[in-house]
Amino acid sequence: RGLLGHVADALANLQVVVATVEPDLGHRGQASFVVTKDNPGLRLGKKESKIGIRASQTAEIVLEDCRVPGDQLLGGEEKLQKKIERGRSGKSSGSSGALATFEITRPTVGASALGIAQAAYEWTLEHLAGRSENGKPLLQEQRIQQVLADVATEIEAARLLVWRAAWMGRNGVPMTGGQGSMSKLKGGDVAMWATTALMDLVGPEAQSMDCPLEKWFRDAKIYQIFEGTAEIQRLVVARLQATEYAERLQYAQQVAQDNSSATPAAEKKPAKESAPAAA
Ligand SMILES: Cc1cc2nc3c(=O)[nH]c(=O)nc-3n(C[C@H](O)[C@H](O)[C@H](O)COP(=O)(O)OP(=O)(O)OC[C@H]3O[C@@H](n4cnc5c(N)ncnc54)[C@H](O)[C@@H]3O)c2cc1C
Repeated sequence: RGLLGHVADALANLQVVVATVEPDLGHRGQASFVVTKDNPGLRLGKKESKIGIRASQTAEIVLEDCRVPGDQLLGGEEKLQKKIERGRSGKSSGSSGALATFEITRPTVGASALGIAQAAYEWTLEHLAGRSENGKPLLQEQRIQQVLADVATEIEAARLLVWRAAWMGRNGVPMTGGQGSMSKLKGGDVAMWATTALMDLVGPEAQSMDCPLEKWFRDAKIYQIFEGTAEIQRLVVARLQATEYAERLQYAQQVAQDNSSATPAAEKKPAKESAPAAA
């Protein structure tokens, strides 16, 4: 049972629902289920009217006595039981499955945000190309060049983060430093910032509904909200970075210790040069 608010593509044939099966275990007591559209316990609730991504239908999903066959439990019963046992014994089961999944899906969200920023940038370049101010082409105005350079640089920075995270996800490299979240955080922030900066550059015309910048500006906002808000991405990145750094430090200390015990005593240098013997 439950109400899922703001589900993007709520009309999809199937939804993955992360549900609590053992409330006292927090995220360790959660499991993911595939729920199909034809399940009698699933119905659509209120349809949202949004400012952006209006081509994607977003609605509430209501689950009432929604029974799901065992084979629609992602990962299977045995894996879930082991996770619950680990949770009960107090042993760490690593990160939550849902959080690890988000780390892999976030680069695609970052890529989508990046597309908005790139489209807004290219449209603005073309728009400004044919215009001039006091006889001087706008693209030769330093104040314009400086903004365009910043937008291009931020887009490239976001793109590299997205590519890195996508490569890691595709090649099964764990994103222990929050690389997936970083790519989505940067992509969303760049899309929002770049569309705003480009609208400022274009001026009053950009406020018109005839100008595509206003659409990209509206579309950009959701990338700071869904799939984990920008604030929450920062928390995820900060926590994963701290854990990863502590592990790296521990590893480095271990290597130093191993090297030190493997070096014969005669070859060991004294920590400090000893004082010369008195004449
Ligand atoms: C159009 C749209 C589509 C969506 N599609 C889906 C979907 O398909 N599937 C799905 O599961 N969800 C979907 N969502 C839900 C979305 O992922 C959540 O709304 C979002 O992650 C925020 O979670 P929340 O609503 O619980 O916010 P809350 O937890 O209520 O947070 C409210 C605000 O407080 C901020 N905040 C909370 N804690 C902190 C903190 N410690 N420090 C600083 N700030 C904080 C948050 O960043 C946020 O800005 C969608 C939402 C929208 C708007």
